[in-house]
Amino acid sequence: MSNNENIFKGDGNKAKLKFYTCKGSGECIKACPEKAISEGPQRMPSAVCLSSGKYEMLPGRAVIDESKCTGCGDCVPVCPNQAIEMSAVS
Ligand code: SF4
Repeated sequence: MSNNENIFKGDGNKAKLKFYTCKGSGECIKACPEKAISEGPQRMPSAVCLSSGKYEMLPGRAVIDESKCTGCGDCVPVCPNQAIEMSAVS
């Protein structure tokens, strides 16, 4: 079963980020009609070029504002890494 088949709209669920699966693509940020998702702080890469010592920071992971999320599910299918799932509010 794909991630997209787990979407149940309008049943009170909210978007939940699988933190370590998120690579910071930003696709969910563009897709959210409520502007409930923003980009968190940029991240250090896991490797640095030893000869030059140079590296580029990685994009920040998504941050979901649960108070703004309406549970529409639009962010789930656009994520290339299946990093968002709909989950019951705890
Ligand atoms: S479920 Fe809808 S409202 Fe909630 S974060 Fe995703 S796109 Fe935004």
